[in-house]
Amino acid sequence: MHKVRVRFAPSPTGPLHIGGVRTALYNYLFAKKHHGVFILRIEDTDQARFVEGAEGYIIEALRWCGITVDEGINEGGNYAPYRQSERKEIYRQYADMLVEKGDAYYAFDTPDQLEKMREAAVAEGRTFIYNASNRGMLHNSLSMKEDECERLLASGEQYVIRYKMPAEEEIHFNDLIRGNMVVNTGTLDDKVLFKSDGMPTYHLANIVDDHLMEISHVIRGEEWLPSLPLHVLMYRSFGCEVPAFAHLPLILKPDGKGKLSKRDGDKMGFPVFPLYWPYGETAKGYREEGYYPEAFINMLALLGWNPGTEKEIFSMEELIEAFSIERVHKAGSRFDPDKARWFNHIYLQQKENKQLAIEFREFLRARGFHYDIIRLEKLVAMVKERVSFVKDLWTETDFFFESPDAWDKDIVAKRWKPESPVILAELRDTMANLPDFSAEETEKIVKSWIEAKGYSTGLVMNSLRLVVVGALRGPHLFDIISWIGREETLIRIDKGIDTLGQIQK
Ligand code: GLU
Repeated sequence: MHKVRVRFAPSPTGPLHIGGVRTALYNYLFAKKHHGVFILRIEDTDQARFVEGAEGYIIEALRWCGITVDEGINEGGNYAPYRQSERKEIYRQYADMLVEKGDAYYAFDTPDQLEKMREAAVAEGRTFIYNASNRGMLHNSLSMKEDECERLLASGEQYVIRYKMPAEEEIHFNDLIRGNMVVNTGTLDDKVLFKSDGMPTYHLANIVDDHLMEISHVIRGEEWLPSLPLHVLMYRSFGCEVPAFAHLPLILKPDGKGKLSKRDGDKMGFPVFPLYWPYGETAKGYREEGYYPEAFINMLALLGWNPGTEKEIFSMEELIEAFSIERVHKAGSRFDPDKARWFNHIYLQQKENKQLAIEFREFLRARGFHYDIIRLEKLVAMVKERVSFVKDLWTETDFFFESPDAWDKDIVAKRWKPESPVILAELRDTMANLPDFSAEETEKIVKSWIEAKGYSTGLVMNSLRLVVVGALRGPHLFDIISWIGREETLIRIDKGIDTLGQIQK
């Protein structure tokens, strides 16, 4: 086999969909597995669809994901430049070469004329295809006399260059995921290869670059499968070797009906892009939602590929080791937002408490709370198992930082008993005099105090939790009061005694 050289070839037309990230990932895994080269090529020849900021976004997204580029616009390489807009002259030569060979031709039909023919066809219940069936009647170098064509070219008349699709020929080709396929060229159109603005179309630039950059395997989304017969024919026209192809299945909506879109994410509250998209219509990103890149990548890797075992948690190294194109699925894979969160949960559980405390400290700082790592580590230990994201640490522990000031009326009605204020007032005095305010010590003394008094443990503990937490939730109550400290506990008891009776009325 040739040296493995693969490319991820996005067009900078907006934020990179997670399907695009997965394409990059599979290319990367395949390259690394075979000790090959992973190339990032920017396909920016469609000026109408170019979006400022998109290229930078793609680069940052790959960096965040840990997908490192071997050759590309920033890395350079022997096949530079890697941005198609900087390779314009190259494509023109290849288009001319095809025209000379008779495999492509000049077409002068204006967009208006083509549109009219399309409309007329629709009105007759047909589809308009520009190919061998009608090209002899259209306005092109095949239908007109040579000198007429030369005159038009010399006069600066606008034209495109179209590929001359054979009239009726069976094209056989192979896809590493889908196997052998055959298409009759009679159903295909004469695709535009070179546009009137002097730029190549995707088809020309893509084939020329894959050839010149010595790409061994083209791994891309299945939306490009219909273009494959044309691409195979173009390789034949250029007389160069055809790379291997693998077309990846779609990532589907959670209900399996169609391709996953930004709207699905907006509706159900999950991102479909790796990073926040800040331009124009903004969009959420996995990074900003608090996902770890390792969890995001692990989730994506299994969305369309399986290792053939039950194993689900993979580091990048393990993915490289286990990956194979043969195990990529043919059918689309449903996106499962719960599973995505589950992956983050697992990766978060694997983090050291100290590391989580450092991350949580940042989160708290942004909200004006300043705590040291040692204290936050204790907090993390109490609630870690319940959380999937660092931001969940806050929802699980907000009452550690802020005294409660809102209570659920129904819960208070049920759990705050007429005797609660008196009992808590007594408990307050007991706590005020404790020699030590550790969780173990307070628990021991409060429990024996309850017993000595003959109170109901449930009543005392629920009342105390209501005043300290504001609700019947949270970790072990004695861990909470020890963490917030004696002074704060007493303040909360006093405040609760004053407020909760009122709420009940
Ligand atoms: N520029 C194309 C895209 O945006 C690349 C397709 C391919 O990989 O051939 O998807």
